[in-house]
Amino acid sequence: MGGTFDPVHLGHLVTAEQARADLGLDEVVFVPAGSPWQKSDTTTAPEHRYLMTVLATAANPAFSVSRIEVDREGPTYTVQTLRQLRELLGDTRLFFITGADAILSILTWKDAEETLALADFVAATRPGHDLRALRDEGLEDRVTVLDVPALAISSTDIRERFARGRSVSYLIPREVEQYARKHGLYATPGWGLWGGGDV
Ligand code: NAP
Repeated sequence: MGGTFDPVHLGHLVTAEQARADLGLDEVVFVPAGSPWQKSDTTTAPEHRYLMTVLATAANPAFSVSRIEVDREGPTYTVQTLRQLRELLGDTRLFFITGADAILSILTWKDAEETLALADFVAATRPGHDLRALRDEGLEDRVTVLDVPALAISSTDIRERFARGRSVSYLIPREVEQYARKHGLYATPGWGLWGGGDV
């Protein structure tokens, strides 16, 4: 399951659990993006995003978190991650789960065709998501769509809530909230380069 996870929230956890149950997966491996190359608004250090994801998933035996992208230098390309996982896991069937909006741009990703061939892609959608966009991109038959009502929660909204001093209770795990507060992540609007400083 790929994502920036800035921060990880209950919508991501529900997505992972729903994918695990609906698709009969043995395990869901969360892969926080190291340096997401197609976005400019993520400034939280990869190590912070990785550790918050570990805190959020620690209690679930079917969930784990990989450092594969956090430890890789340079921009994060999914094709490299899937090649590495394929090498590690041999014949294991791989699914790549992420948000539908991200998957919509997949044809612009590095080595898009190879990326699509390396795993089964699963697009998690928010309530009311318009599936026409997937059809327009010719992706309808190449991607499994997962409707996740809890994806009404978004990382953008969580960051804004932190910055404005509004409650984030019941939107993110308590441990993640405590970690973010301890390190001063998202404390001010436009929270600054590599928010929270070095780790
Ligand atoms: P994003 O643009 O931050 O997210 C797009 C939408 O999808 C947002 O609404 C986001 O909600 C949601 N989303 C993201 N991850 C999700 C998840 N795991 N489960 C459910 N919803 C999710 O996308 P991103 O995080 O940068 O990228 C998503 C994945 O695609 C990452 O693994 C990234 O490395 C990969 N990607 C690869 C390439 C490439 O190889 N060239 C290019 C772009 C993206 P929240 O903000 O609430 O999470």
